[in-house]
Amino acid sequence: MTTAAQPIHIGHYIQGARVAGASTRSQDVTNPATGAVTGRVALAHRADVEAAVAAAQAAFPAWADTPPIRRARVLFKFLELVNQNKDALARAITAEHGKVFTDAQGEVARGIDIIEFACGIPQLLKGDFTDQVSTGIDNWTLRQPLGVVAGITPFNFPVMVPMWMFPVAIAAGNTFVLKPSPTDPTASLMMADLFQQAGLPDGVFNVVQGDKEAVDALIEHPDVKAISFVGSTPIANYIYETGARHGKRVQALGGAKNHMVVMPDADIDQAVDALIGAGYGSAGERCMAISVAVLVGDAADKLVPKLIERTKALKVLNGTNLAAEMGPIVTRAAHERISGYIDLGVKEGAQLLVDGRGFDGKQAGAGCEGGFWLGGTLFDHVTPEMRIYKEEIFGPVLAVVRAKDFGEAVQLVNDHEFGNGVACFTRDGNVAREFGRRIQAGMVGINVPIPVPMAWHGFGGWKRSLFGDMHAYGEEGVRFYTKQKSIMQRWPESTPKGAEFVMPTAK
Ligand code: NAD
Repeated sequence: MTTAAQPIHIGHYIQGARVAGASTRSQDVTNPATGAVTGRVALAHRADVEAAVAAAQAAFPAWADTPPIRRARVLFKFLELVNQNKDALARAITAEHGKVFTDAQGEVARGIDIIEFACGIPQLLKGDFTDQVSTGIDNWTLRQPLGVVAGITPFNFPVMVPMWMFPVAIAAGNTFVLKPSPTDPTASLMMADLFQQAGLPDGVFNVVQGDKEAVDALIEHPDVKAISFVGSTPIANYIYETGARHGKRVQALGGAKNHMVVMPDADIDQAVDALIGAGYGSAGERCMAISVAVLVGDAADKLVPKLIERTKALKVLNGTNLAAEMGPIVTRAAHERISGYIDLGVKEGAQLLVDGRGFDGKQAGAGCEGGFWLGGTLFDHVTPEMRIYKEEIFGPVLAVVRAKDFGEAVQLVNDHEFGNGVACFTRDGNVAREFGRRIQAGMVGINVPIPVPMAWHGFGGWKRSLFGDMHAYGEEGVRFYTKQKSIMQRWPESTPKGAEFVMPTAK
């Protein structure tokens, strides 16, 4: 039996097997609800990364050569196994991340969507063909896999975000090295086991646990052809620049400060429900969480009293409790950072309407005294100059900003450094249409607070929320993980005699 005194060792997954690795460095894995150390995760040495990349490189030629429909069959089997094990995955998420179990189930479900999408890879890889581009000449395009590709993922979606990447990459014929967050590493190994049971050849999917050392080894490795990153903006920026310097294709998704604009004509109760769910769900630790409510005109007077009441009434409980609406904060360090931002907001002159500091873990359930607990926090009269407005807090802190009209609200969103998600609540079709057209953000919701695009649409922000050109998953994902080749062909009967010295044109 494992107790807090005997934490489980969480290692890597290389060449179809769980391995301890060469590194002696490791880090605690903690249950945020109780504060108990439940595991020790290995932090890879460069040699571990090299072993994983070598396994992936060796597996690449045969996997790339496997017909797409046979690759898809492995994905169909993986899909079936993930479905059978979805609650076990969700439990692992709750145990290490802290989010409530039903939310963890939702995360797994959104990951499953991407596996389903990737099962359609034969259709997605179908090229274009033009007969007779010139007399006797045909021209077609095909898309081929890149080779070894790597994914570096954040703590906040330990199943869904890796699944934004590896099902599409692997279906397209690449081999993959995943470097998950060391905060909640267990699910990565569960996914690797399921993939192996599905019949994936050894070396096609590998997991290397670690921190900056592993990341740097991946982005500098000459055999790694592309990097997908999801995490905070400073690291996304670093990955993009360093990866590009090493000649790699990079998509690096960064942080966010998502605004929800509420117009005076909106359904006020719907807007309150949306703000409470999107502001405090997953303790605000979602890149699509709403952290700023922009209340236009007299919307503030109608909304703020209801927001106060609902924020105070949030059921902040151990995530294993099915009645929970919000769980703990992921780590002690994150708890300190978020509490520090609440202190700062008060110093900056924002009006603290509901204070989540000092929330007693005992209220969250038995054994939760040592966990990392905060209640929902609500500020009013936040202004664009304040750091609590400019910076990503990534916690259960909702800031109300008041705007006099629609134009001012749009300007506020467009002036912000981040441009991930945004929402507008209104009943006016013209306002909704203008909002969609004028707003500077990658993902827009009209009366939808968390507009995470479906698997076949692709996910990505604008401005400093995404570095690179292509969004994650969907057709953009297929393009990211493949390179296009154009082939032009003719046969001897249609080939004229003699050398041609002029630029070839259609004849
Ligand atoms: P993070 O940037 O700290 O870590 C992300 C990954 O980078 C992890 O695997 C981590 O081990 C690695 N890393 C951390 N520091 C590094 C360094 N100095 N050098 C190299 N690698 C390093 O992010 P996090 O705290 O795990 O996740 C939360 C952040 O992720 C938030 O900013 C959130 O907005 C963002 N996020 C963005 C999206 C999106 O789609 N845009 C989705 C989810 C999360």
